[in-house]
Amino acid sequence: MSQKAKRVRSIRLCEAPIHVRECSGFGETKDHFTPKCIAKLLRWKQKQIEDPLNIQYLSFACHKEKDSTTPARLQLLKDQLGGKMFTFRQHTNYFNKLCKTKPQKLSFR
Ligand SMILES: [Zn+2]
Repeated sequence: MSQKAKRVRSIRLCEAPIHVRECSGFGETKDHFTPKCIAKLLRWKQKQIEDPLNIQYLSFACHKEKDSTTPARLQLLKDQLGGKMFTFRQHTNYFNKLCKTKPQKLSFR
């Protein structure tokens, strides 16, 4: 394989479904799609947590944005596991409140 081909293969794009404005477009960090703390609460085994299907690559900015929602997602799950019921509307409102940054479409300049 040529040097150029190797370099191209190693470039990853940010895999966030919605990118924040500061996103570089590149998957600079490794992220667990289902965060470890939530996976452990769901009693996932280490092998499931590290499964390639649970791994995504995000830019620093998109990763930071995703991580900022983790404490609230963890609390929601704890409430649900504790038997608290949420309607679809309550669930949607809950997540809308979590998004501090307005998502933007990814654009390359
Ligand atoms: Zn991104």
